[in-house]
Amino acid sequence: MIGINNDIAILKEIQKIDCELSSLEQEKQKKNNDYLKLKESFDSIKIEYDKLQEDQKLTELEIKKFEQSNDELKKRIENSRARMFGVKSQKEFDALKAEIKTNQNTISENENKELELMEKLEKIKEKIPALMQKFEEMNSVLEKQLSEVDTYMDSIAPKINELTSKKNELLMQLQPRTKQIYTKILSVKTPALAAIIGTTCSACNVYIPPQTVNEVRKETRIYTCDSCKRILYWQE
Ligand SMILES: [Zn+2]
Repeated sequence: MIGINNDIAILKEIQKIDCELSSLEQEKQKKNNDYLKLKESFDSIKIEYDKLQEDQKLTELEIKKFEQSNDELKKRIENSRARMFGVKSQKEFDALKAEIKTNQNTISENENKELELMEKLEKIKEKIPALMQKFEEMNSVLEKQLSEVDTYMDSIAPKINELTSKKNELLMQLQPRTKQIYTKILSVKTPALAAIIGTTCSACNVYIPPQTVNEVRKETRIYTCDSCKRILYWQE
């Protein structure tokens, strides 16, 4: 009889520790989630930034391609012009003239396309500094957040250790059967105990018959909630 009485008192102490540990764990999770959320927006900026740089590279390459093509066409025109002096017929002369005209038209088209690309390039380049700044700002916020998480983890580590060793001491004081019941419940849900408030289980809100409430108040044996299976205890 005394043993069980003691067990329930010990379990109540353990319950307090479990609640403290669980709120520390929740805080830890929250900080970690905040960090992950920040990291996500940071990553999306990074993707945007990388894409812009890629666009810049590709546009520059395209411009270069048109420049090279025009250089080539200009050479061909010079060539045709040089050949004009040596032609023997009007037909040949006209053919060269037409060739020059075609090449000039292509040069002009290329120049228009090049101009469009230059404008595009300008727009890309305009966007880069703002994005770069956003990227750097975000990076520093992210680092700050990460160091906050680290600091928090460091600050709660001794507390967690202290609570855990206190809990282990208390667990050793429990009767093996009680410890077994408690451990089994805790492996599926935290906390493992639920207070009866009025006539309901405070964890799952299920109705507890007055007879059971009375028995639980006596603390003569361990009762578990029919619905959530937690160990019930009476809260004054
Ligand atoms: Zn319950």
